Amino acid sequence: MIKQETVNEIMHRADIVDVVGQFLKLRKRGINYIANCPFHNEKTPSFNVSPSKGIYKCFGCGKAGNSVSFIQEHEKLSYPEAMRWLADFYKIPFEETEKSPEVQQQQQTGESLRIINEFAANYFHDTLFKTEEGEIVGLSYFKQRGFRKETIEKFKLGYNAEYHDVFLGAALAKGYQHDLLEKAGLVKNRNGIYHDVYRGRVIFPIHGMTGRVVGFGARILKTSDKAPKYINTPENELYIKSKILYGMYQARQSIGKHDECFLVEGYTDVISMHQGGVENVVASSGTSLTEDQLRVIGQLTRNLTILYDGDSAGIKAALRGLDMALSQSFNVQLVLLPDGDDPDSFIQKTGAQGFLDYVKQHKQGVISFRLQIGMGEVGDDPMKKSKLVNEIAESISKINKAEDFSLQDHYIREASQKLKVDESGLVNLVNKYIRDRVETESRDRDRQAAREEVEQLPPDFDHPDEFEAAPSTTATNLEHEWQILRILIEFGHLAYTEEQTVAQLIFQRVDPALLEDVTVGKLFNEYASHYEKFGNTPEIHIFTNYPDPVVRNKLSALLHAEPHISENWSLKYGIKSINDRLPYMADVESSLSYYENQKVMIFINDTIKKLETETDPREMLRLQMKFLELKKLEREILQKHEPVVFKSLKFK
Ligand code: ZN
Repeated sequence: MIKQETVNEIMHRADIVDVVGQFLKLRKRGINYIANCPFHNEKTPSFNVSPSKGIYKCFGCGKAGNSVSFIQEHEKLSYPEAMRWLADFYKIPFEETEKSPEVQQQQQTGESLRIINEFAANYFHDTLFKTEEGEIVGLSYFKQRGFRKETIEKFKLGYNAEYHDVFLGAALAKGYQHDLLEKAGLVKNRNGIYHDVYRGRVIFPIHGMTGRVVGFGARILKTSDKAPKYINTPENELYIKSKILYGMYQARQSIGKHDECFLVEGYTDVISMHQGGVENVVASSGTSLTEDQLRVIGQLTRNLTILYDGDSAGIKAALRGLDMALSQSFNVQLVLLPDGDDPDSFIQKTGAQGFLDYVKQHKQGVISFRLQIGMGEVGDDPMKKSKLVNEIAESISKINKAEDFSLQDHYIREASQKLKVDESGLVNLVNKYIRDRVETESRDRDRQAAREEVEQLPPDFDHPDEFEAAPSTTATNLEHEWQILRILIEFGHLAYTEEQTVAQLIFQRVDPALLEDVTVGKLFNEYASHYEKFGNTPEIHIFTNYPDPVVRNKLSALLHAEPHISENWSLKYGIKSINDRLPYMADVESSLSYYENQKVMIFINDTIKKLETETDPREMLRLQMKFLELKKLEREILQKHEPVVFKSLKFK
């Protein structure tokens, strides 16, 4: 039990903004703070923190509570563990009513591992400074790497002696048990005899987000051995590799402050950069970035810059995780360091300012970077080129268009120029990948919905037609999307130009990922899949006889409606058809521009709404830029189809 005085003191001192601010980038909004919720995936913040009430609440997923429950939830700790965390954080003596060794042993494995790790980190750190071998072997290695004393202290670097069980002896003398020491990866049982795992190695403790040690990386110093260069803690209750970024604890505030996170490969890169004055840096430890790692970074910034040297295999691995980063709206940039330098050696040469200048001048978007690498490998091989075109298109398709409207177009233009492929062909390919994804997602959603429906069916549900419902309310707001579907079904098979059908035109101009109406999205994809599979447009009766009665009704109403909305506009505002070639062309063109115009207006309104409440100047600037971009796009649409859209805007 925790002593009541300790509880009182913790509750008195705990400041919700302080506590939550250790993990999330909080922004002031009125008297409260907001952030992206750490408990569910979101891109616009709905996580609110109220300093006056000492509580948080997420309006997205409903999670709410105080400082203690936040730590419990976020760090996956029990109540006493969370209290201990807060006591550590505020340097309040943590007093328990009983604290016998037995009680300690009864505590959960996670907490025991934490205690053992803490002990081990202190032990290795002391060995480094206070033993002869530590100084001569370990400390001189770090000094030779250029690490200063305060840097070694900051990262709590250590050393363990060569002798086979010197750490084990110290741990046993403290009362720690063999099995937990083994679980922590510190000792190993070979033929019934335990010995130290990190022998003659320098040691890098790995801190969790609370600053407590969750594991270690240990580097061998001898050159000859068959032994691995690095040994890391095995997966256990504390050390979950997919969630760990080395240096995150030391970097988190700087990442928030600079709104950028540098990613490097190794421990020493992180440490050198800190020492050089660049603190917003973490290491991926040579694996490809995981969703969990991205979530941790994404809570602090969306700007991820990867520092890459010619022969770092680990960064190549990280590159494979980048499509995921693109789809989560990260702005991913790469920087190739000069030949023969890694981040560690480079910053030691240039100092912080030189380093940052170089980074600024050599930043390259991830797609451009892939293109550059890929072009070098392709040469004249047409098969390789086709593979590269597909890979690039797939990566471009992952870019979240709702966050950055022009980025996808920018990359398509760049890729088509560099790869010497037709731009509209590439657009089609990108849209195909988007459709494939949307289709998979909607299939997953359907399956989920079907499962839920089965559970909710009333017992006498055997006449589905009696349950026909009116078109959903959103359908009226999303009329422009339904109009796209209509012209697709009605005119898709007809020629638009000599080379292009109306369907092809629509595939090129409509990004299915932006379709908000779930039904429209689903039908659009069904149409497109048919088109891809059979090379022709599906018969109209497939849609007019659609199995789902709600869809069937909506579609037949739409297809029979006279006049169509676009013609309706033309009549209402006295606009002449802008294309006299064939009557359906005017319908197709005005429906498309109506759709594009509505989309842009929705984005514009959304941006304005965000601007009204935004207080962070950096975020405001980003939104203002986005606004200008969208206005430019709006103008372009207006110029392309002036008569129809101009009127629609004016009378809206
Ligand atoms: Zn939430």
